[in-house]
Amino acid sequence: MKISAVKPFPVWIGHRNQLVVKVETDEGIFGWGESGLSGRELAVAGAIQHFAEFLKGRDPMAIGALWQEVYRSQYFEGGRVLQAALSAIDIALYDIKGKALGVPVYDLLGGKQREHVPTFASTTAHETAAILAQAQTLKSAGWTAIRLFPNFSDQGKIFEPREHLAATARTCIAAREALGGETVLGIDWHHRLSVAEAASFCQKMPSATLDFLEEPIRDETPEAYESLRKLTDVPFAIGEEFSSKWQFLPYIERGIHQYNRLDLCNVGGFTEAMKVAGWSEAHYVDMMPHNPLGPICTAATIHFSAAVANFSWLETRVNPGDLYGGGQSDDVFTRQPRLHGAVYPVDSAPGLGIEIDEKALTREAFKFWEAPHLKRRDGSVTNW
Ligand SMILES: [Mg+2]
Repeated sequence: MKISAVKPFPVWIGHRNQLVVKVETDEGIFGWGESGLSGRELAVAGAIQHFAEFLKGRDPMAIGALWQEVYRSQYFEGGRVLQAALSAIDIALYDIKGKALGVPVYDLLGGKQREHVPTFASTTAHETAAILAQAQTLKSAGWTAIRLFPNFSDQGKIFEPREHLAATARTCIAAREALGGETVLGIDWHHRLSVAEAASFCQKMPSATLDFLEEPIRDETPEAYESLRKLTDVPFAIGEEFSSKWQFLPYIERGIHQYNRLDLCNVGGFTEAMKVAGWSEAHYVDMMPHNPLGPICTAATIHFSAAVANFSWLETRVNPGDLYGGGQSDDVFTRQPRLHGAVYPVDSAPGLGIEIDEKALTREAFKFWEAPHLKRRDGSVTNW
């Protein structure tokens, strides 16, 4: 079997762009992958076109060797754009291999270690009362791990960090009281704070209010996280932007974080994710994968989550206001993972178990989209 084509599809599906990748073979077996660099999909699609040039004619079963070649056969290796491209290709190659051998992808990763994959769900509201109501809805629907977002809406395009710390801390305290001690409770700051601001936020809450603090600060400097580590005892959940095992290295080896928010569609696909998982297992760090994209990402991450020992929860994007609103773009993804309550069953179909209507996939062209460009009140730039 030989690779005959590698096709990037940067397309608009539902309410956002997705970069879906199809790898075809001369035997008619094909695989699907997805890239996770949201907002810069055309840059990744360009990288995939470069890689496609030398991947044609190669053996799709030699996934480890192809990973090394895509990563290392260039002078300027690595980085988020190239790794998002490699991630999609690697995921598609696993889909091909599973289909060729007639086994689900988790069987290629050592077999499944759990019957279903537990998930965490998130609130979407911006005001305390609405956040608490959504958290209760999620708990009633069966979720035992719930993530909040701060008391902040990006609609005004102004983010002044200290204006949101106290109100968000009060929301977290109220949520802990309302949900009880058994519910796992976390919050995602989307790396919007400085070390001092994150410390102030944590100091405003009693101990045991939060079970995890996700992305309080940016991740370029592990030493900054080490400083914050000394200022709070709340476990950190980070790593969704990391695009290789080497980015995880200082965090895992220095004991900085406690949950790995690894993103299969950015880190380098299954090949890289399994290495990060094994390395994390040695340090008793659990995998808590990022899953913000489409059904290919979800399906791939379910296989990964089923096959690793050190696992906590997979992110799921349900709408607390419409919990049973169905799958994502069912007309495009005609076979895709479905939640059963708060868990994903582990699919035993060969490969990823994803089926796509290609005509529906390409119905809406890519649309340029920018994440909100946030500013502080003095006009300076800050993170979204
Ligand atoms: Mg996050």
